[in-house]
Amino acid sequence: MPHTVKALFRDDAYLSVAEGKVVAINDRGGIILDQTCFYATSGGQPGDTGFLERADGSRIEIAATVCGETKDEIIHVPAPDQPVPEIGEALTLHIDWDRRYKLMRMHTACHLLTVVCPYPITGASVGEEESRVDFDIPELDGDKASISAGLMQLVEGNHPIYTETISDADLAANPGLVKSKNVRPPTGSGSIRLVCIGKDASVDSQPCGGTHVTETGEVGEIHIGKIEKKGRENRRFRIRFGPAPAQ
Ligand SMILES: [Zn+2]
Repeated sequence: MPHTVKALFRDDAYLSVAEGKVVAINDRGGIILDQTCFYATSGGQPGDTGFLERADGSRIEIAATVCGETKDEIIHVPAPDQPVPEIGEALTLHIDWDRRYKLMRMHTACHLLTVVCPYPITGASVGEEESRVDFDIPELDGDKASISAGLMQLVEGNHPIYTETISDADLAANPGLVKSKNVRPPTGSGSIRLVCIGKDASVDSQPCGGTHVTETGEVGEIHIGKIEKKGRENRRFRIRFGPAPAQ
């Protein structure tokens, strides 16, 4: 039976430290806790790294966080040669916040790109320094400079970002909310988490389970580093932090 772990990052993406109790160690040494602030790799966003602090102050370094059999089973993968905690042991969880915060800013930037480029998404990968989003675009309207300017207009608008829960039926009634061409959000649990940008979702809303900043201004300066053609209709956009380099 897969374990259901309380995913604290869903309600508070800014929680960098939390308490948890060990409920299981899987056959590969993965640590499962009753609750966690560690995001597990999903939806193009890499899982968190960090450490679990024991009562005596020693550390269990965590190299990766992944989902188990279900999305609710979150597994902390220790780095090689780490001590194994006891079942029932209370630990203090510390995520690598500098890394996570960059991923949150980048992940949010990917949402903004889907507003500036309103085309079906065929793939996405969030990184600390660079993220990529693939779109199905037969004819691209704009170039790196104009799309970067569109992104920065949304960043500078400092729009609020918040989540909302809707029912499977609401989603079925609003198919336009889904921007992925091939991936449908998981339905069947009865509710879907929507990530909304702008007052009353005036800028955007789409199903997403990742972690985001709370205002678009927090994304900071970003630009499109590259647009590549991948196949006949696929275009890959690379988002990078900082100002666009001088041409
Ligand atoms: Zn998202």
